[in-house]
Formats: sequence, C-alpha cells, structure tokens
Amino acid sequence: MILFENATVLDGASEHALPNMHVLVAGDAIREVSDRPIASTAMRIDLRGKTLMPGLIDCHVHVVAALANLGANAMLPDAVVTLHTARLMNEMLMRGFTTVRDLGGATYGLKMAWDEGLMPGPRLSIAGKALSQTGGHCDFRGRHDTRPADFFAGRLGSLGRLVDGVDAVRRACREEIKAGADYIKIMANGGVASPTDPIAFVGFSEDEVRAAVEEARMAQTYVSAHLYTDEAIARAVRCGVRSLEHCNLITEATARAAAAAGAIACPTLVTYEALKNEGAALGLPPDSVAKIDDVRLAGLESLAKMDAAGLMMVYGTDLLGPMHRHQSEEFVIRGRVQPAMEVIRGATINAAIMLREEGRIGCIAPGALADLIVVDGDPLADLSLLTHQGAHLSAIMQGGRFVKNALV
Ligand code: ZN
Ligand code: ZN
Repeated sequence: MILFENATVLDGASEHALPNMHVLVAGDAIREVSDRPIASTAMRIDLRGKTLMPGLIDCHVHVVAALANLGANAMLPDAVVTLHTARLMNEMLMRGFTTVRDLGGATYGLKMAWDEGLMPGPRLSIAGKALSQTGGHCDFRGRHDTRPADFFAGRLGSLGRLVDGVDAVRRACREEIKAGADYIKIMANGGVASPTDPIAFVGFSEDEVRAAVEEARMAQTYVSAHLYTDEAIARAVRCGVRSLEHCNLITEATARAAAAAGAIACPTLVTYEALKNEGAALGLPPDSVAKIDDVRLAGLESLAKMDAAGLMMVYGTDLLGPMHRHQSEEFVIRGRVQPAMEVIRGATINAAIMLREEGRIGCIAPGALADLIVVDGDPLADLSLLTHQGAHLSAIMQGGRFVKNALV
C-alpha cells in the first residue's frame, strides 16, 4: 500500500484543483481519497508542492505508425512493426499517458502482449483495422497501383482495410469485433496521409455509415469517424456516429447539433503542426504535403467553435512515426484557446467518458484504477509542465505499480 500525502489533486472532476489531499493506493486501485490525514501503515510519500493527477489519456493514436509515410508503413514486416510499437508505447507511458485509444492498426495481439507484461505502455482501447472505402483514407495504393483491395487487411503496419458496400461493411464490422475491437472506426472523409482522396471527399455512402453504426450498437459499442469537412461531420452526426475525429472544418451549427446528439469530438491539432514542420523530411509524399494546410489553418478556430457550442472534447494527437515525440504539445496548443482546466478534462474525465470507462480511469476517486502521475508544479498555471517527454513528472504509476519514481 502507498499513501500519497499533502498532494494537490487535479483530475478535472471539480472546478479547481484540491490542495492538501491524501490518497491511499492499495493493490491496483485507489482505496481512499481524503482532505484529512489517513491512518495507515502504508508507505508514505509527501507530495507537498506537487500535483497528483490521473494518468493521462490520449484518445487518438496509432501505435503501429512507425513511419510518417503510411503506405510504406503498411509494407513493413510485422515483426519490425511490433518492435516499433513496443518502443512507441513505452515512450507514451513515460510521457504520462497510461491509457490510449488506438484509431486504427492496433490488434488484440498487442493487447495480449500488454496484459502479459511483455510490452510496457498505456492500456489500449482498439478499433482493430479502420474501415475505408476504395480510394479512401486507408487506400495507400497510388493511381497506378493495382494490388487487390484486400491487400491491407492482413498487414500489421496498415492502419486500415478496404471495404465497399453495405454487406461488406457489416461483415468487416463483425470481423473486427470478433477479433477484439473495442469499437468501430470508419474513414468518412478524405485525408492528408493518403494519396488519392482530397480532404473534401466524403467517405462511404450514408447506407454504409448507418450499417456500421447499427453493427456497433448491436455489439454494445460505438462508431468513430475520421472527419474534416462540415458536410461530412453533419452527415456522420445524423447517422449516429458518436466519436468525431479531427473536425477541423466544423461550423458552430454542426457543433451544436453534435452536442445535442451526444457526440464527442476528438481534435488532433498537434499532428498538422508536426506534419507542416517535419512531414516532407520524414518521407510524407508530396500529394500529402500539399493537403496539410487545408486542415491545419482552421484548427484553432474549430476548437473555439466547439467550445462555444458546448460540444464535449477529448485529447487526441494522431501523430505518425518520429513525430510521436510531440504527443504532449497538444496541451499547450489547446491552452491558447481553452482554459487549462478544460484542456486537462480532455485527457482525464472526458476521455474516460469517451472510452466508457468513467470512474475506472481518468479520475482520482475510491475504486478507480491507480493510474497516477505526479507533476512538479501546477499544470493549471503552466500546461507545458506536461511536455518535455515527462521531464516534469517525478512519478508515473500504472495499476498501482510505479513505472517511474524519482520521489524516494
Ligand atoms: Zn483521421
Ligand atoms: Zn488517425
């Protein structure tokens, strides 16, 4: 048992951080949280001057994206992808992310490896392969590349697979759920990192989207969609999609409709900054580089619109390859538009709602998993304390076990 004493607790559940709190961890869970000293024989750790937060949650990552060029990534041998994934996941954990949602690529096999303790990293919530139509955001075949459409389904390094038609979408959803997907991901708009789909392209017919939503509901889960343009977002909301990724070009009216429908948005602004600065040098093809500013420039405005519309937002990053090291900079980017507390909620309590793990992760409360980080200082005053690859995190605990501890 471990007793954290005199901590400032910050999890987004209250309006302000709570000073002088005492938190008792027993086994893999939080047993007690109190504003008065807790009598216990547990090992005591004094956190005076430090902030105790829940482990951070990134709701949009791709743990198999070892390379910025996703077509090339799909061609990597599975063994190489696996080892890159292990490295990327460990680096995420050391930045304080104890849970991540993978939006396409991660498999049940990776969850098994994590469960067995073979691969330190964040807990995974996975979509399996993202579903894309031919010519959509997971079709990495160039114009003259005539490999069969089923090529990508069997490769660990591919973020998605190609399916066309209502029946094929239903079958693919059922296959992904059977294979261990926690939810379904569809590519419902053009994308930056794919060669033949301009941003404005709308992905899948309305019938196909509705089929995916129905299949997900039948399996007691939800659909997440890759979306940029207002037209595509509005249609996704109408069809019952719950998790709206990116949303760079959303209007306030659509944001209001999304909020009314109970949808949640997952902006990923940092990836467009990183792609702009580093994408070309990292092998992003010219067709993709040309598309970055179509979405990058509208990014911050979209946050303000969604905030004004009362649309819940969660923390997402969507970084690829070596750009993963910018994962925590999304906090600082959002802090330019949103209050720091709202930014933090995106990676704590709101993220837990998105993952349907409310009360289990993303909070500091009795019964929650002991996924905790100790921040040197006050992130509400300075969100950049969460950046620098975990340099300002003096401890990281996952499931009651320290994975980093510079406190004692
Ligand atoms: Zn996307
Ligand atoms: Zn993504």
